[in-house]
Amino acid sequence: MRLHRRACIDAVATQQHQCEFRFYEELGDFLAPERRKRSFRHVFDGTPSVKDRIESLGVPHTEVDLILVDGEPVPFTHRLTGGERVAVYPMFERFELGGNNHLRPKPLREPRFVLDVHLGRLASYLRLLGFDTLYRNDYDDDELLAISQAQRRILLTRDTGLLKRSALTHGAFLHATDPRRQLREVLDRFQLDARIAPFTRCARCNGPVDAMAPDEHDTDRVPPREREPHRTPPRKRDPDPGDPSERDPGHAPDIGDPAPPPPGKLDPGKLGRRTAQWPLRLSQCRDCRQVYWPGSHLTRLRQRLAEVGVPI
Ligand SMILES: [Zn+2]
Repeated sequence: MRLHRRACIDAVATQQHQCEFRFYEELGDFLAPERRKRSFRHVFDGTPSVKDRIESLGVPHTEVDLILVDGEPVPFTHRLTGGERVAVYPMFERFELGGNNHLRPKPLREPRFVLDVHLGRLASYLRLLGFDTLYRNDYDDDELLAISQAQRRILLTRDTGLLKRSALTHGAFLHATDPRRQLREVLDRFQLDARIAPFTRCARCNGPVDAMAPDEHDTDRVPPREREPHRTPPRKRDPDPGDPSERDPGHAPDIGDPAPPPPGKLDPGKLGRRTAQWPLRLSQCRDCRQVYWPGSHLTRLRQRLAEVGVPI
């Protein structure tokens, strides 16, 4: 009896079908080169879900916004039986397809992020622009997933295996390897340009940053840039091999200019008010007490971000 049942299961499992797949736009990045920008035949056993086949071809489900089977939108659970034409469209906010058939989960009201361990520079940029961004260089995959789920944070990574974990609901693959281009990608995908609030978070710890009001410090007394004993040392992290700037071991994030506090001028009780000119004035993180002062590299930072269309 058991043998008979096993034989039946095997017969069903080995029943081969084929269908035609076409992946659009940047989803091609996940495919073998000969499968990009064209339709191709795909052979499969049994009646798998369309999600299963898409991921088996290398495309994480988090990157897929719309699936059409023979011209009709279907959910991830749709079963393929053979002979279908499957069109798969990417999660790309500017690529408007219309209709209410998108697969993406509801956008999170306040976009918050948790970043994979190789994205330290991007974490600094996102914090600089005011986005709540968790990052540590020693999170393992399970921790990243748990944080994403528990805190409803969007997981950003270049690890497609991580994005294929079924428990993940809000994740995004970064196609770029350069941190500034990654920043542009995140802003585009989640339509964040209007939410940028520069210099409101600490690039080092993600804590809120406050500026001292003009009457609460004397700029003449701020030590010059040469005296920067408190400058944050760069954190050890796994470099992204495709990113030259990530290989620069001594390059701390270009975020403001951390400076030592002027004597007698850092009463925490006086740091609650923000000014429109920040970071043109001395500022401090509420959590880690990091002090920021605008140096010449703030100008360089602005230029570098302007090059990728991010004015601050
Ligand atoms: Zn801080």
